[in-house]
Amino acid sequence: MIIKMDNENTNTLRNYEFVNSYIIRVFAIPIMSYLSQTDPEIANAIEAELGRERHVLEMIPSENFVSRAVLEALGSVATNKYAEGLPGQRYYGGCDEIDKLESLAIERAKKLFGAEHVNVQPLSGAPANIAVYSALLKPDDAILGMDLSHGGHLTHGSPVTWMAKLFNFIRYKTTAEGKIDYDHIRTMAHEHKPKLILVGYSAYTREIDYAAIKTIADDVGALTMADIAHIAGLIAAGEMNNPVTSFDVVTTTTHKTLRGPRGGMIMCKKNHAKAIDSAVFPGLQGGPHENNIAAKAVAFKEALKPSFKEYAKQIKKNAKALEKVFTGSNAKLMFGGTDNHMLLIDVTPLGLSGKEAQIVLDSVGITLNKNMIPDDPRSPMDPSGIRLGTPALTTRGLKEADMERIAQTILDVLTHRTDDGVKDKARAMVKELTEKHPLYPDFSYL
Ligand SMILES: *Cc1c(COP(=O)(O)O)cnc(C)c1O
Repeated sequence: MIIKMDNENTNTLRNYEFVNSYIIRVFAIPIMSYLSQTDPEIANAIEAELGRERHVLEMIPSENFVSRAVLEALGSVATNKYAEGLPGQRYYGGCDEIDKLESLAIERAKKLFGAEHVNVQPLSGAPANIAVYSALLKPDDAILGMDLSHGGHLTHGSPVTWMAKLFNFIRYKTTAEGKIDYDHIRTMAHEHKPKLILVGYSAYTREIDYAAIKTIADDVGALTMADIAHIAGLIAAGEMNNPVTSFDVVTTTTHKTLRGPRGGMIMCKKNHAKAIDSAVFPGLQGGPHENNIAAKAVAFKEALKPSFKEYAKQIKKNAKALEKVFTGSNAKLMFGGTDNHMLLIDVTPLGLSGKEAQIVLDSVGITLNKNMIPDDPRSPMDPSGIRLGTPALTTRGLKEADMERIAQTILDVLTHRTDDGVKDKARAMVKELTEKHPLYPDFSYL
């Protein structure tokens, strides 16, 4: 029996889930019986991961839950095909169908972001950034990017990366109040004459004035690059400023707020298309991961729907609900609050480090990550802050009132971390909310 799964039609989806659960219950034929039969160790590990995802409140702001359609494309036969090159210009035979799906991914991404040119082959966000540097720069060229402890990403010139040895990264910082300091960026740009000015962050919670950056870049003859890895879904939905139409190059991951498979993507102006494409292949990569590209196409189609706009709006509303509770607390909300999906919080006023906060919250089923705060006096492995966000929980259907409860519970647990009663109460809340908003119901790898 072939059951067509059509995400546009919720009735079909419901039928599909009904039929699957019926099969499981009546005939005991699990969905992924092959894996559990041939490799029970891996099947068990994946099933246990599914259990973990179901039973915790996932608040790491870079994570999300993809649709079953995305999962299906990821686990498809498209993984079998070598397709070096681009649609219509491949080095291998037999690429007709792969060309179709990669072209669809490109066309949908163009529509989603208003891009002139798109390359969907970067394996992830970090390789996408490296491809851009190698396309547009020569060794030792200067890149002006955000200081890491102020919200920048490792691939923006952290000394631990190979890129930091190849290029001359210069760092700007946020103001004392934690806003992007455009005057400071202008001063640094005039002083250092960078070839590239880079914006886009992993732990910065405010809106970005791309027009101001573009003006500074034009003044000093620099190229502009935005790395929208975290906020791509919000931009696609029109809920945050879009740099794609004005900047030279924009990179992103596809697995954060965009809610697609783990992967990267580069969007650019037509005049950079050739340099970008040849930097990705053959410059840095070999055969593209076409199963992953198929899944990107599926996610882009989902993101083009009105329901995704509602999703993005709710992500922001939920982050504002968290902000409301933390604003009135003893913990220190960095950057004064949030305009996007995440919050960065200095927990040291509560008498513990970010690492200690992460560990105690893990123990009650709330998952988030320790994070540096601007000019953090502590170390990256045991920093002052925690970073948390709403994309994954919003996918599960949680709303503002749930967020307020969760924020209050986080504060209670951090403040009374040796009190077993408080922790038990937190665990009960996690259980209640995760049961009320089930994840991948009727799904099993065993
Ligand atoms: C997550 C992220 C990346 C890296 O993406 P990976 O897929 O982990 O390689 C790059 N830049 C920014 C701003 C990010 O947040």
